[in-house]
Amino acid sequence: MALRSYADVPNRIVRLFLEQAGRQYDQNRGLPLFRSMTAPLLARFGNSCAYCGHATALVAEHVVPINRTAVGLHAWGNIVPACEPCNKIKAGHPWEEHPRLDWPRKSAIAAYIAEYQYQPDITELRIVVEKLYELADTQTRALIDFGLVASRPHIAGLHTSVPPSP
Ligand SMILES: [Zn+2]
Repeated sequence: MALRSYADVPNRIVRLFLEQAGRQYDQNRGLPLFRSMTAPLLARFGNSCAYCGHATALVAEHVVPINRTAVGLHAWGNIVPACEPCNKIKAGHPWEEHPRLDWPRKSAIAAYIAEYQYQPDITELRIVVEKLYELADTQTRALIDFGLVASRPHIAGLHTSVPPSP
């Protein structure tokens, strides 16, 4: 996999922030930290993709995307199992519009969100996230302009030759 562009750094910082905000939200709701998808969580979706129902390799999918547009959180009630194709199709789109979603699965996701009462007030969070993105973007661009992380890949310390395995 190719190294992502440095332009992606602000988005990744926003994601880290929303992961942390999600932990805080869970803690405030008296829920255990969301570490990984638990057996009960997987079971409630039939150990299959919450969108298409296929029982295959599953990833943790954020129902409300954790990006600065949607401001979803890494928290209980916002993470469902999904197959990788469905995860890719979904990307930043609203979950209700997922093309592989049928009515029973849509209801199952809605019930899961309701049970965990996932409904954070993201008004202030959105302002913080926008500011964070702006700051990170400005700082990253400054580094690029300064020539430290230009498109040329030579940053001191990154170029270590690895001896070939015997
Ligand atoms: Zn799927």
